Amino acid sequence: MSIREFAESGADLELVGIQKRFPGFTAIEELDLTIPAGSFFALLGPSGCGKTTTLRLVAGLEEPTAGRILIGGKDVTDTKAHQRPVNTVFQSYALFPHMSIIDNVSFGLKRRRIGDAEAKAHEALKLVELDHLAQRRPAQLSGGQQQRVALARAIVNRPALLLLDEPLGALDLKLRRQMQLELKTIQEEVGLTFLHVTHDQEEAMTMADTVAVMNKGAIEQMGAPEELYELPRTAFVANFLGKSNLFTGDVVGTTDTAMTVDAGGHRITVPTARSQRHQGLVTVGVRPEKVTLHAEQPEEVAGRNLLGPGRVIDVSFAGVSTEYIVAVPGVGTISVFAQNMTFGPVAHEGSEVWLSWDV
Ligand code: ATP
Repeated sequence: MSIREFAESGADLELVGIQKRFPGFTAIEELDLTIPAGSFFALLGPSGCGKTTTLRLVAGLEEPTAGRILIGGKDVTDTKAHQRPVNTVFQSYALFPHMSIIDNVSFGLKRRRIGDAEAKAHEALKLVELDHLAQRRPAQLSGGQQQRVALARAIVNRPALLLLDEPLGALDLKLRRQMQLELKTIQEEVGLTFLHVTHDQEEAMTMADTVAVMNKGAIEQMGAPEELYELPRTAFVANFLGKSNLFTGDVVGTTDTAMTVDAGGHRITVPTARSQRHQGLVTVGVRPEKVTLHAEQPEEVAGRNLLGPGRVIDVSFAGVSTEYIVAVPGVGTISVFAQNMTFGPVAHEGSEVWLSWDV
């Protein structure tokens, strides 16, 4: 049996006008979301933004105050949790300690008297590369292996949709990174629809094909990881995904393709689409890795923004790159990530420097 046949192909998920009020608190104001079948979708946001509530609504563990939930085109809003084609993997994987791994994985199938439970459980364990440990008890496995058993258990009954609620939160950083890649590979192999909830931006960006950034019960921006990173629509998204230098300025001129912003006496060119035309006070953002540090004042070049002089107030070495924090009068502090191409820092604390980046 091929892996694809083993698991039913995923179904799409639609949330239509979902609202969730708890007594005295509105966790979700209005949520519309379509997740295509077979995709790896991440809901990313800070603690308390409503991620888990969204997942619980999809699982049927909470009832929406308003709105509909459709899985594979079928309205499941009034369907009980255990009748929805959905499984959830939680951070605490809660395996039965007294049972072998194979029994843990086949337990649900056997209880529901589904045929070939054992064979299906072995198939699922093969998928997470743990079939050779099928006879062990959970306590005889590492944390990462236990989490993979929990995953095998969640996909063994072929759900159309798999919900993952911070599933890697209990693992140490190295194992977490490894499991992120494994989870992505498994998702690609089985073709199920994965809805993953996390507050870890790196996790969301490495695993998901689409990321929705949630803030205060609403989706602030949704798109491919690269798109969210390169073209964040709000300061919240820019700050939540990676590090961003944000500073304010006044719009002093516009053309068809760009606007000129005065930031503390520095003229900065910002590319804009016509639809994004702004006036007055704006926030400008530039990623630290896009900024180049200069020890001497560079010549002004068309197509490059120039800031300076500023003073280096902090240097931190991080192996591949070094981060320089530069205070620029009238603008604020700007962080610069410089690749460590040569031995030794390119500037020191207290050095006078200039900054430039491509418009
Ligand atoms: P975390 O990452 O910390 O789990 P989250 O984004 O998953 O956060 P939710 O658990 O969805 O957040 O909670 C969203 C908001 O709804 C929070 O402010 C929370 O306090 C509130 N909330 C959740 N459940 C209830 C409840 N049963 N009664 C009242 N308020 C609730």
